[in-house]
Amino acid sequence: MTPRSRKLRPKKHELTIQPNTPLLQTLSANHYHMPTPFQTPALPYAYEALEPFIDAETMHLHHDKHHVTYTTKLNAALEKFPEWFEKRVEDMLKNLDAVPESIRPAVRNHGGGHVNHALFWEIMGPNAGGKPTGDLLAAIEKDLDGWDAFVATFEEAATLQFGSGWAWLSVADGKLMVEKTANQDSPLSQGHTPILALDVWEHAYYLKYRNVRPDYIKAWWNVVNWTAVAEKFAAAK
Ligand code: MN
Repeated sequence: MTPRSRKLRPKKHELTIQPNTPLLQTLSANHYHMPTPFQTPALPYAYEALEPFIDAETMHLHHDKHHVTYTTKLNAALEKFPEWFEKRVEDMLKNLDAVPESIRPAVRNHGGGHVNHALFWEIMGPNAGGKPTGDLLAAIEKDLDGWDAFVATFEEAATLQFGSGWAWLSVADGKLMVEKTANQDSPLSQGHTPILALDVWEHAYYLKYRNVRPDYIKAWWNVVNWTAVAEKFAAAK
């Protein structure tokens, strides 16, 4: 993470205390927003927890290098507009047109990379896989022609995404849909809410699966934490 730049720190001499002014009022009048940089969330499990489907070395590189770089570059871009540190990255991606033009590509790419990976880590886990139950399974059956059709459609999206990108299960207008995006583009920018994410950038699988993306996709189902996905579905509906 990039340390805050010196210019963003409030300076000691800028705190001026007027006589006979209540302390709280003084503190309030001298309140400076300390921009809080975005942080790469820690993995919610050990790096080796997804073995043998996703290897520990890939997880180290993917989380500690790739994700951290997205977060670092997002923070570096926002330093020019420190008030944007107050916002949620998800909200920036929902309305990219509102982001200052000079940092819009950085927010789209690095902000997207930051939130996409945060979701990706959350919806995976050890001792996972299988099928969802309850409302989520019912919605998959209703909106996506059943479980088998969903799996086939999702695998097709992940396989056919040309070059770097993502496959998603998203909620759009109250219904589930499968979609894919290029690079670090987020379904949020289309007004959709992603609840399941599969990273198909080569950095996500190349060490173990080399160029065989379909083998990675098949193996990945074994680490999907459907409990986490169901929670995101319930929140998105
Ligand atoms: Mn990635």
